[in-house]
Amino acid sequence: MKDDNSPASGEEPPSGRRLQPLKEFHSAGRGFWRDVSAADWDDWRWQLKHRITTPEQLQRLMPTLTPEEFAGAKLANHKLALAITPYFFNLIDPLDEQCPIRQQVIPRIEETHTAAWEMSDPCGEDSHSPVPGLVHRYPDRVLFLVTDRCAAYCRYCTRSRLVSNATGYDFHPEFDQQIAYIAQHPEVRDVLLSGGDPLLLSDDKLESLLGRLRAIPHVEFLRLGSRIPTFLPQRITPALCAMLKKFHPLFMSVHSNHPRELTTEVRDALGRLADAGIPLGNQSVLLKHVNDDATVMKAHLQKLLMCRVKPYYLYQCDLISGSAHLRVSVRKGIEIMTELRGHTTGYAVPQYVIDAPGGGGKVPINPDYVLSHNADRVVLRNYEGKIFEYPEAADGTPLSPPPKKIEEPELV
Ligand code: SF4
Repeated sequence: MKDDNSPASGEEPPSGRRLQPLKEFHSAGRGFWRDVSAADWDDWRWQLKHRITTPEQLQRLMPTLTPEEFAGAKLANHKLALAITPYFFNLIDPLDEQCPIRQQVIPRIEETHTAAWEMSDPCGEDSHSPVPGLVHRYPDRVLFLVTDRCAAYCRYCTRSRLVSNATGYDFHPEFDQQIAYIAQHPEVRDVLLSGGDPLLLSDDKLESLLGRLRAIPHVEFLRLGSRIPTFLPQRITPALCAMLKKFHPLFMSVHSNHPRELTTEVRDALGRLADAGIPLGNQSVLLKHVNDDATVMKAHLQKLLMCRVKPYYLYQCDLISGSAHLRVSVRKGIEIMTELRGHTTGYAVPQYVIDAPGGGGKVPINPDYVLSHNADRVVLRNYEGKIFEYPEAADGTPLSPPPKKIEEPELV
């Protein structure tokens, strides 16, 4: 078996001095809610009930709110609602305008600036939806949208047309229709429950839904996509975990973007899910002032492993309307990936992808490690930039023979 410790990794670069503090686990604390009882604070329904949802509340709790943020918050409920759980609010640094937590959940007026290439449905989900609330884009799997509500709202959300119902999308999933479609399509072996956040359903409702899906013989594999472990770790109760473990194989994709989101509360919640036998993967979005820095990214990925979560995807931010201020160049994304591969544990390295605009699906984006490839040999660059040759096997033909003439690609 090959190990991924070779060659020796050498000394940690100077950035290592920034790495360790980023990897420390801290509690979010109580902040303004220090007088609330522990029973209330740890109750996920209390957290939901006390979310920050108005510009006035936000300004009262954070007098350092900038005019751009206040104006954004005033308009948010016409675009994508403002909502932040008290727990998550405590992670915001009110003195840092570029705080990575603040960037993710506090609206800005820039959300109203849109470019011609931005879209309300950048992944083309609505055009791949055979019944309301179901997206069938890939051959063997479906996306099952269960709700349009989330514990808090991410300002870069790909489904902002739908979640929070701020724009009147009028989302009414029909579980009967969605389940009937899956039952009638034996090619569907994998069902991803998402939304909105499926963990906002009560235990009973979620159990009933998972049970109905499990009863379909050709559904091999169930997945939950949830931001709740980071927005509302209180929701990950022992009772929820005991219920979920009845439906294995059940995987969960969580969503975290910055090491500061991985608090002791989140680590404990993820531990409860892992103890219930649920394999955990993380999906991050590459975001300006959040994780567009190789050291921050590395700390986040290593910290995820410490929380028993495998970094799964790193998404290039979708072309969602009003997200330009949060997007980072693909060039920067590739640079960051180059600083990860070989420089840290392979398990820590996610796949960087662009969800092809308009519904083309996820396209992997990798730094160029294959410099050339012909019938005799492959020329490779390793993570240190050293060049190696690998003799091609006798039956080998180049993966991508050079085109006879360069043709303009057809844009879809
Ligand atoms: S939790 Fe997910 S669905 Fe909800 S706002 Fe964030 S990215 Fe969108």
